Amino acid sequence: PATLGMLGGGQLGRFFVIAAHELGYRVVVLDPDAQSPAGRIADQHLVAAYDDPDALNRMAESCAAVTTEFENVPAGSLAYLSKFLPVRPSAEAVAISQNRSAEKGFLKQHGFPHAPYTDVRSEADIAQANAGLFPGILKVARFGYDGKGQVRVQNREEALLAFRQLKHEPCVLEQMLPLDYEVSVVLTRDAAGVVKCFPTAENSHRHGILDVSIVPARTSGCVAGNAQEIAEGIAQKMDYVGTLAVEFFIVRGQLFVNEMAPRPHNSGHYTIDACVTNQFEQQVRALTGLPLGEARAHSAAVMVNLLGDLWYLKDPHHSHEPDWAKLLAVPNLKLHLYGKHHARPGRKMGHFTVIGSDAQKVQESALAARRLIGIQDD
Ligand code: ATP
Ligand code: MG
Ligand code: MG
Repeated sequence: PATLGMLGGGQLGRFFVIAAHELGYRVVVLDPDAQSPAGRIADQHLVAAYDDPDALNRMAESCAAVTTEFENVPAGSLAYLSKFLPVRPSAEAVAISQNRSAEKGFLKQHGFPHAPYTDVRSEADIAQANAGLFPGILKVARFGYDGKGQVRVQNREEALLAFRQLKHEPCVLEQMLPLDYEVSVVLTRDAAGVVKCFPTAENSHRHGILDVSIVPARTSGCVAGNAQEIAEGIAQKMDYVGTLAVEFFIVRGQLFVNEMAPRPHNSGHYTIDACVTNQFEQQVRALTGLPLGEARAHSAAVMVNLLGDLWYLKDPHHSHEPDWAKLLAVPNLKLHLYGKHHARPGRKMGHFTVIGSDAQKVQESALAARRLIGIQDD
C-alpha cells in the first residue's frame, strides 16, 4: 500500500491517520514528541524537528504525498519536500495562514471582508495607528493559538505596553468588533478545483478556546451560505488543495473573516459523526487524488470540547480520569479521546458529539451531557 506523510503529531494528525488507515494507506508521522497522539498510532513515527534534514529525506523516500495538521510547521520544510513529491496544501498556502500579517494582507488584497487592522513592527506603528482601531486586540503575527499571544487594549498607551510585553514581536493591531456570534466553514478542494463544503458551524469560545460547535449554525441560511462562498473564494485564490478552515465573525448580519487554518479544524470535528464523509477523510482523498466524498450532514450535531481542566475537578493538584461511563450512557453521544498522557488545564484532551434529527433536542442533550461530567454552563 502507498504511504502518506504527515507533518505534525497532534490530534488532527491522529484523526488523519485513522482516516488514512480506513482507506488502506500507511502513514509516516514526523513530530518531535515521541508520545505525540498521531505518532503513537502511525505506521512509522519519525521523532525529530519539523525541519530535520534526515527526517525530511526519509519522508521523501518513503511517502507518495505529504500533508500537515499544524500551520506552524516551517513552510521551508514543505517547500523542500515538494521538490520530490506532492505536498498538499502547498508551502505558499501554509505560509499565508501561519503569519497574521500575511493572512490579513491576503484578505485585503483580494477584497475579502475582515476587521480593520494595521501591521505593527515598531512602537512608531502604534503611535501612528488609526484612532478607530481602539479598543482593539494586539495579536502576535506568528505562533499564536487558542487566544495565546493576544492582548486586549483600550487605547494607544495600553497597546504600547502590550507590544513591549510581547517583546516587540511583529504583531497586528485589530479593531475589537462587537461580535454577535462566530461561525466557521470547513471545506476541501481537490487538485482539479472541485470544492466540497461542509455545513457552516456556529462556534462559542471560553477563555479564547473553542468550547462548543453547533450545526446547523443558528443563523439565516443567507449568512451560512455567504460564509461558504467566501471560504470557497479564499480556497480558489490560494489555489488551495486539501482541507481548509475559515473562521468568521458576525456583526449585525455582516461577515468578517477572522482567520484561516490550512488543515482540518476543531470546529469540523462534528463531521466525524454527522457527515457522510468527514474532514479528515476528505484530506486523505484530496492528498491522494481520489474523488472527494459527499460532505452533507446526515444529522444535526453539537460538539463539545473536553479540556484538561476536567481532569482536575476532584483535586486541583492531581489529575483524575473523568467518569466517561456517564457520557457514554447518553444516547446518540460519540466520545473521542486523543490518547494524550498528561492533562493540563486548557489542553484539548478529547471531545464529544451528540447527533440527532432535532437540532433543539441535540443542543439540550449536549448541554445536559456536559453538566453530567461537571462542566458548568456559562
Ligand atoms: P485559534 O485557536 O482559533 O487559532 P487564535 O489564538 O488564533 O485562536 P483568534 O481566532 O484570532 O485567536 O481569536 C480568538 C477569539 O478571540 C476569537 O474566536 C474571538 O472570540 C475573539 N476575537 C479575536 N479577534 C477579535 C476581534 N477583532 N473582535 C472581537 N473578538 C475577537
Ligand atoms: Mg488561530
Ligand atoms: Mg481563531
